[in-house]
Amino acid sequence: MAPKSILIVGCGIAGSTLASFLQLSNIPGSEKPKIIILERASKGKAHLRGQNIDIRGVGVTIIRKLGLEDRIRASTTGEQGALMVDERNHVWAQNEVEKEGRFQSPTSDIEILRGRLAELCWKNSQRISAEAEENGATPIDYIFGDYLDMIDQDGQKVRVRFAKSGEEREFDLVVGADGMQSLTRKMVWGEEGDKHRLKSLHMYAGFFSIPREEVDDKWRRWFHAPGRRGIMLRPDDQGLRSTVFMYVVNDKDSRFTQVATKENGGIEAQKALLEEYYKDAGWKCDRIIRGMQATDDFYYDAVSQVKMDSWTKGRVVLLGDAGYCASPLSGMGTSLAFAASYKLAGLLQGWIKSDEHADVTAALEKYNEQMRPIVKDAQKLAPGQVNMMAPETLWGIWFLRLFAWSLSHASIIFILFGKLFNLGPQAADYIPVDDFGFKDMSPWKI
Ligand SMILES: Cc1cc2nc3c(=O)[nH]c(=O)nc-3n(C[C@H](O)[C@H](O)[C@H](O)COP(=O)(O)OP(=O)(O)OC[C@H]3O[C@@H](n4cnc5c(N)ncnc54)[C@H](O)[C@@H]3O)c2cc1C
Repeated sequence: MAPKSILIVGCGIAGSTLASFLQLSNIPGSEKPKIIILERASKGKAHLRGQNIDIRGVGVTIIRKLGLEDRIRASTTGEQGALMVDERNHVWAQNEVEKEGRFQSPTSDIEILRGRLAELCWKNSQRISAEAEENGATPIDYIFGDYLDMIDQDGQKVRVRFAKSGEEREFDLVVGADGMQSLTRKMVWGEEGDKHRLKSLHMYAGFFSIPREEVDDKWRRWFHAPGRRGIMLRPDDQGLRSTVFMYVVNDKDSRFTQVATKENGGIEAQKALLEEYYKDAGWKCDRIIRGMQATDDFYYDAVSQVKMDSWTKGRVVLLGDAGYCASPLSGMGTSLAFAASYKLAGLLQGWIKSDEHADVTAALEKYNEQMRPIVKDAQKLAPGQVNMMAPETLWGIWFLRLFAWSLSHASIIFILFGKLFNLGPQAADYIPVDDFGFKDMSPWKI
């Protein structure tokens, strides 16, 4: 029996993790699938970008299974917690990281730069693949710097074309792990309907890093300016740079959506628009704007959630942000991507072992079914969360600071509220991790 062929589109957190678990599956090496990971960015470049993300609850269980926990813990930013500050940098509220694991605090126990995590997941998948190869499996093939411009399926196979090389190939399964703006989703589910699947939260954000200054410490500083503007300044993992999450909540100025596409000026236009909105904001904004203009790791996002009725169509399945982006506001994107990759790999095992023409529908249906409640919880935001994060007036900001101050003195209320309604990051503690019989990977020594 020929091994199944699987194309994974996207070498981010979800793509590398799925490939890793498929290689760790409890299947003889010669029957393990032939896996290709296709990444649009060039090797080691844009796919290793991005600022602070957190790993929580279920995500920690998964990185442990991948033998990655020590490496990841050695690469964290060490953020001590979050401070809400005013224009004089005076602290109004302080929320320290919860290290005992009793609940999920705004700062997680594991805060890491997205680029570093993507690199560790990708390199670890190579380590796992090399070990599987020793036991007869075909090693994972990584293709960088290309993408698909055609996906077609006939029930038995999925036929794709690689845009740059022009090569056409067939696969038994195609997995779209290509992030929130997934081309796989647009090509298979239709470009037209995509505006309904991508639910804008009307928040537009720049993520980038700037040179660190003496005053920047290991705390996240969160500043608000009237006109629904907010900035977080956070530590990086080397102590050399500070990272920035700079956002505006706006449902009137159409330029925020226009600049998201390359045709409308791309990064230059995105930076210019954020500068226009922040040039009079006070606090450390002059320095942050100068740093933004000079930085080479700027990433702009119209903060959104992806909502779909089904994440599978025939032999194409969506994974991670591509199918159910929860947005950075949820604090769940990465842990969700880890949990979903593990689950999909587990559910595919039966199909992988079965004969050449076996139908994958049953496995994919289970994936749809089992991921639905998990995604629903992960995408839940607190009522009015976006507006709370970005008050319109000075009075609103003052009220927010007082509210944050009272919460930081009575954090138990906040935690109970989150736990009761299974909101946002608290959901990471409730995602089940089934036993699929995967081999536990040996720890990747530091
Ligand atoms: C460059 C970048 C920076 C980010 N920065 C942040 C951040 O600062 N804070 C935050 O909270 N979240 C950030 N995210 C999102 C965060 O990584 C995800 O929410 C989460 O980790 C889930 O991961 P994922 O693997 O599903 O998607 P992603 O991490 O988005 O990975 C998708 C991968 O697919 C690749 N890709 C995209 N389109 C194609 C295509 N057509 N063909 C082939 N490959 C493709 C991308 O280059 C990327 O490697 C960023 C994502 C990216 C891609």
